[in-house]
Order: sequence, then C-alpha cells, then structure tokens
Amino acid sequence: MSALAGKSAIVTGSTSGIGLGIAEKLAAAGVRILMNGLGDPTAIEVIRSRLAEQNHVDVHFHGADLTRPEEIHKLVTFAEDVLGGVDILVNNAGVQHVAPITDFPVDRWDYLLALNLSAVFHCMREVLPGMLRRNWGRIINISSAHGLVASVNKAAYVASKHGVVGLTKVAGLETAQTGVTVNAIAPGWVLTPLVEAQIRARAEAEGKTIDLARLELLAEKQPSREFVTPAQIGDLVVFLCSPAADQIRGQTISIDGGWTAQ
Ligand code: NAD
Repeated sequence: MSALAGKSAIVTGSTSGIGLGIAEKLAAAGVRILMNGLGDPTAIEVIRSRLAEQNHVDVHFHGADLTRPEEIHKLVTFAEDVLGGVDILVNNAGVQHVAPITDFPVDRWDYLLALNLSAVFHCMREVLPGMLRRNWGRIINISSAHGLVASVNKAAYVASKHGVVGLTKVAGLETAQTGVTVNAIAPGWVLTPLVEAQIRARAEAEGKTIDLARLELLAEKQPSREFVTPAQIGDLVVFLCSPAADQIRGQTISIDGGWTAQ
C-alpha cells in the first residue's frame, strides 16, 4: 500500500491541465482529494466521479474563486469538514496574460497577482496551523520556469512566479524544524489550455499553422523540444510527499526540458 494512502489533499485549479494531472497521481496513491477550479459543473462532475471510481478514494469539489480570500477560507473550512483536515496542499491554479508593460491592463495585473501569488499565501496561511498541530504536512507550489528567468510581455506572470519562489523559501524556513515541508515546482512548457491559447495567438499573429507555432514555441525555450506532461509533474508531487523528500525544504525544483540550464 502507498505510504500516502488515506492522506488528504487540496489541489487548486485541478479541473484542467497540470492540476488535474497532479490530482490523478495523488488519487492513484490513495490520497483523498478536494478538487477546485472554475468551469462547467457537468464536466467537472464527470472528472470528479471518474477520479473517485478509478482510484477508490473520496474526491470532493469546491468552486472557490481563489482571487477572493474569503472564498479561500470557505474552501479550507469545507476541506476540513469533508476530509477531516488537510495533509497536502498543492497551490496550482494560475492564469497568464501576454502584453508589453506599456499596454498591460491594470485589472489583469491585479487579477493575475491575486491568483498566482496572493492566493498561494492565503491558502498556506489557512492550512499551516492544522499541519503544524498534526506535525505533518506537504505544501507544493506550482511556480514556473518563469519563476527563475524572464520573457518579454509577461510582466505579471514572471513577477508572480518569482514571488512564489521567494514565498516558498520563507515558508520552507519557517517550518524547517517541523514535520511540514514547503517546496515549489518550476515546469517548462506543458501542453495545457493555458499554453494552447498562446500557441493559437502566435499562429494568428504570424500567419502560421498551429503545428508550426507549437514547434517554434518549444524550439525557442525548451532544449528537449518536447512538452513536459501533467503526469510527470504529478509524479514529482507524489515524490515530494514521500519520506525520501523529508529534507527537501524551501526548494524550487525545475522540470523544464533544460529551459533554465541555458
Ligand atoms: P489550465 O488553464 O489548464 O488550468 C488552470 C486551472 O486554474 C483550471 O483548473 C482553472 O479552472 C483554475 N483557475 C483559473 N482561475 C481560477 C480562479 N480564479 N480560482 C480558482 N481556480 C482558477 O493551466 P495549466 O497550464 O494547467 O496551469 C496550472 C499551473 O501551472 C498555473 O499556475 C501555471 O502558471 C503553471 N504553469 C503552467 C505551465 C504550462 O506550460 N502550461 C508551465 C509552468 C507553470
């Protein structure tokens, strides 16, 4: 039986992409899950029930909008009610907006920072007291290669993801002498709706096919020229939750096809 069987996890933004890949791997390890995210309730219910049935674990859903701290409080209270506490928190929900600083809409800056950075702080602040009381916990923040290096036209995203790297170091240090660890993962390109939108925008702007735009996107940044998969990130999360990772603290682990080795 998996060492994680019976633990409980909140995975934010798990109705799609990387978060769903992480929820799938944790559920396969026997972890009970509270999914979160936005989207069509019928489609979300299909995912929730499939995850529960395939893995024989409880899977719940809460649709908190994480840009609102009061909804984060409700999400964590709900998790404590239905799961009896939160052992693992994966802060994954995030959005992108691509524009130069001079044209960057102020409301998009505020929204993106609220979701990609402030929500990570609010979620950690809500779950840490319970983890510290039980003296076991795992917090894994999904940063990005853009938490370590920059690209043009991504001011809010790069600032928020660098912020997550710093916040992870502080939380890792504050919990260093406890059974709680806090780390971040920095993925390169993963083919999810967030990146598909960027590929479509490139193809339209440059009059190219989607296939060519996808290849050029990879060639520009990711030496392996292959996408990272949500399943690979899910496996890394499961590893960070294992006893082998007890002394990995405050770190940001890259999984980026070589992007940030350049
Ligand atoms: P995605 O668009 O497939 O999924 C985003 C998830 O966040 C969805 O479940 C969505 O419903 C949820 N979400 C959006 N706004 C929300 C809100 N206000 N409240 C609650 N949930 C909300 O994107 P993805 O590519 O899977 O990205 C997941 C994370 O991984 C993000 O933090 C992203 O920055 C990061 N990341 C992605 C890539 C990539 O190449 N795709 C690379 C590095 C890091």
